[in-house]
Amino acid sequence: MSDTLVVNEIYLSLQGESTFAGLPCIFIRLTACDLRCSYCDTAYAFTEGEKKPLRDVQAEVHRLAAAFATPVGQTSGLPVSGASGPAVKRLPLVELTGGEPLLQKNSLPLMQALCDDGFTVLLETSGAHDIAPVDSRVRRIMDLKCPGSGEAARNRWENLPHLKRTDEIKFVITTREDYEWAKARIAEHQLDSICPLLFSWAHPLAPEQKGKSLKKLPPGQTPISRQELAEQIIADALPVRFQAQLHKVIWAPAQRGV
Ligand code: SF4
Repeated sequence: MSDTLVVNEIYLSLQGESTFAGLPCIFIRLTACDLRCSYCDTAYAFTEGEKKPLRDVQAEVHRLAAAFATPVGQTSGLPVSGASGPAVKRLPLVELTGGEPLLQKNSLPLMQALCDDGFTVLLETSGAHDIAPVDSRVRRIMDLKCPGSGEAARNRWENLPHLKRTDEIKFVITTREDYEWAKARIAEHQLDSICPLLFSWAHPLAPEQKGKSLKKLPPGQTPISRQELAEQIIADALPVRFQAQLHKVIWAPAQRGV
């Protein structure tokens, strides 16, 4: 096996949607995805990318992280372990995203190497692929695809027993039907007893973001506003964390590299 990955972009920004939201984070966006979610805002990563040796990817991460040389806890006051926030070994965080990182086998040794380097490593995955081979130190943020994505049939339910307290389950909510579906799955599988749950409101796509191959919103679905979603979570006392996709609040929704 060659030691390369097809990489769309690597950049330093703020983590936008998880329990780590707001912290500095280096994103490694890998090319290719086998899903076509109706709300996908990274269709450019389906095909655009460049083959890079693992050592070059690792070196780029270290270059971008160099300004954060002081270990966390000595100056920043960030929690180093659990009680008041997620455990962070050092900043910036490093997140593999896509596309779907698990489509490329070499994402596994890269995550292992970055953990060995002392980074807190996050993985954003669609939930359609086996998460078991991922290094146990990695924080896996796994989607459960709601009906509005057009890809709910791809959920790999066999992943659920592999999830740990340090992982997170994310529902991207586009419609009222998505909300009710997610609420029912939480009750059915007692998901709140496994790990933190994220309800992420799907920011409407700008015209230039709408990839031609994306699935259409299935018929009979009623879009839900950000405010409606927040108020429904409160009304139902759901044990979930509302997410507003921070990067799209700070920067233009279609801006890349943020
Ligand atoms: S899984 Fe992620 S990258 Fe793939 S189509 Fe869905 S939203 Fe886009």
